[in-house]
Amino acid sequence: MEKNKIEISIIIPFYNEEENINRLFIALEMFFSNLNVFGEVVFVNDGSTDNSLFLLKKLKANYFESKLVNLSKNFGSHAALRAGLLNCSGKYICFMNADLQDPLELIISLYNKCNEGNNIVWAYRNNSNNNFLERKFSQLYSKMMKKYAISNYPDKGYDIVMFTQNVQKLLNSNIEANSSIHLQILTLGFRHDSIGYEKQKRQEGKSKWTISKKIKLFIDSFVSFSYFPIRIVSVLGIFFFVIGLIWTLYIVYLKIVYDDLMIGWPTLISVLMLGFGITNISLGIIAEYLWRTLDSSRKRPVFIIDEVINLNEIHE
Ligand code: UDP
Ligand code: MG
Repeated sequence: MEKNKIEISIIIPFYNEEENINRLFIALEMFFSNLNVFGEVVFVNDGSTDNSLFLLKKLKANYFESKLVNLSKNFGSHAALRAGLLNCSGKYICFMNADLQDPLELIISLYNKCNEGNNIVWAYRNNSNNNFLERKFSQLYSKMMKKYAISNYPDKGYDIVMFTQNVQKLLNSNIEANSSIHLQILTLGFRHDSIGYEKQKRQEGKSKWTISKKIKLFIDSFVSFSYFPIRIVSVLGIFFFVIGLIWTLYIVYLKIVYDDLMIGWPTLISVLMLGFGITNISLGIIAEYLWRTLDSSRKRPVFIIDEVINLNEIHE
């Protein structure tokens, strides 16, 4: 294969996608054979326990440079994308998913927008295949993120992104743990633009985003990019202190002026319940931050790369 300068790098993390590997590869071959620029695909195996890795290693790419980054276990797709970013060399870099829910043609539109001088181009989906609850959750998420964490959070959200090498360098020099890579890109600034597209339904296999992974990303996104939760703790504290002070002055006044103070257990219980509730919530929030500080002070790697293989070479 001719070794041209790589113009586009596509990073694809995959976790147990054996149903999708072959169709993905065929789609990529089609895509690059019709493209007049040279590109590479960096597949990141995020600790798959099924046959995906075996299947991928058998496939020979004729129209693109094919690379495999093998992680030592499952680290989550954001960590996998970061591992891929350390191992790609294209002028423009794009994140894709293994299940082909996002059309590859999107990459051409993103590429054209990048060539117009943008450093970062986002693609957001026009449609939504999610059910009512998921849609409401994602609307609430966008609203909260925009209001309390990242003011330039796009109203329509984001799915796929392409960016230039200077953005890649910044991301590589600051590999954040327990954080969303998309949100990190959003905070960088630069000249950016966005386009809309239609996301397809997943054809093979199940979504690898379990509820617990989604909740973790939600809390990570919030705590990593906003100190709003800590602010709530302080404001609540001040609020209850002031109320408590007024209340105390009031009962002292009742006692001194009228000598009329009924002591009743219902009020005591409610004060206790409220107090315990607030203390517990506050402690929970503080623990979130402490946990993250502890985690980053340990300097545990965000991902562990087992091996990097040039898939074109193993077939030569
Ligand atoms: N993925 C991953 N590690 C994980 C979960 C997901 O690498 O722990 C990959 C997955 O194989 C796919 C991409 O991330 O290529 C997006 O995942 P999925 O399609 O399951 O997410 P959804 O489309 O439901 O948001
Ligand atoms: Mg998907």
